[in-house]
Amino acid sequence: MLQPKTRLEIQMLLLSWFDENRRPLPWREKYRPYEVWISEIMLQQTQVKTMLPYFRRWMERFPDVQSIADAREDEVLKHWEGLGYYSRAVNIHRTAEIIAKHHGGTFPKAHSTILGMPGIGPYTAGAISSIAFNEDRPLVDGNVERILARLFNIDTPVKEKNTRKFIWNTAEVLIPAGRARQFNQALMDLGATVCLPRRPGCEKCPLNGLCESRRMGTADRRPVSNRRKDIASIEVAVGILQHRGRVLIQKRPASGLMPNLWEFPGGKIQPGESPEQALIREFREELELEVRCRERLASIRHNYTSFRVLLHAFLCRPADSRPKPVLRSAVDARWVAVEEFDQYAFPAANRKLIDLVSGRKPAAARNHRPEPRNDDSEDGANVVLLKK
Ligand code: SF4
Repeated sequence: MLQPKTRLEIQMLLLSWFDENRRPLPWREKYRPYEVWISEIMLQQTQVKTMLPYFRRWMERFPDVQSIADAREDEVLKHWEGLGYYSRAVNIHRTAEIIAKHHGGTFPKAHSTILGMPGIGPYTAGAISSIAFNEDRPLVDGNVERILARLFNIDTPVKEKNTRKFIWNTAEVLIPAGRARQFNQALMDLGATVCLPRRPGCEKCPLNGLCESRRMGTADRRPVSNRRKDIASIEVAVGILQHRGRVLIQKRPASGLMPNLWEFPGGKIQPGESPEQALIREFREELELEVRCRERLASIRHNYTSFRVLLHAFLCRPADSRPKPVLRSAVDARWVAVEEFDQYAFPAANRKLIDLVSGRKPAAARNHRPEPRNDDSEDGANVVLLKK
């Protein structure tokens, strides 16, 4: 049970620390609900320094909810390309359409309404309600979880139901009435800049005099995580199929991983198959096309949250002089010129292949490693070029 004196002390220390140390971020200038919403969705699984250029470009193209609702999903995805976790962009588009249709294009204030929007879970709803509308709502992401687990030296796994409940309750009880905006952001900034996952900067932490795990010397063992699940590894083969100066790309389905993104055809390598054999089979099964592998281009590793992928890429040519793809699992397929690739949104590994075939230097932003930040997101990848 948190003593009122301790609670008051934590509130005062954090608020005055935030006054002096807040990060100057664009959505903090006016706290427009629209900007806060977009920033929170972009920050899911992505670090601030990675998302900032995306945020600025986004605001230039989509200055308000209506401009997203009016845009085609392909264009929304294109502005998201490279950030990963593409279902976030699809959900933003859906939410914008709902707000335009049912709320006159103005971001709604009611917490229960916000919580019901696509892609908005308890963390993001708490962030929008408290930061945009200054409502006394708690938020618990990985940063807040870590700070509270250390501050109170919680020795049970933070994802366990009772521990989770305790952390959410504590985050709520700690909010100083009418100051949720500053207080929650103080927690977020402290977790992002001082109480880091490795090597917390306890000497400059405003809470160091109250921190139980610092006193007990257990900070490096908090928070306690659940036992890691084994991460599955899969190998896939993809083909850049060339025909008359154009390359075949296909569109992924609207549900599942990386919805509605374009990609090069291919699929999982079955036991006993070589990557080339898998690729020929995949083209046959998925598109009813016969292809020949001409050259191995690269092997690329993707790390998703729950599995790893090793992707082998090949340059291919059709066996037939008039190849006509038949759509099986993809929702669309097109022959496009290399110069037209920029008009389509691709997953990060495919984009890297495009850079390879077009001789471009891969963009740094496309090669970032997203870091888990809160609980409302679900997929992502980092990309490492292994070999040619
Ligand atoms: Fe984190 Fe150290 Fe501050 Fe405790 S004293 S909250 S461990 S930075």
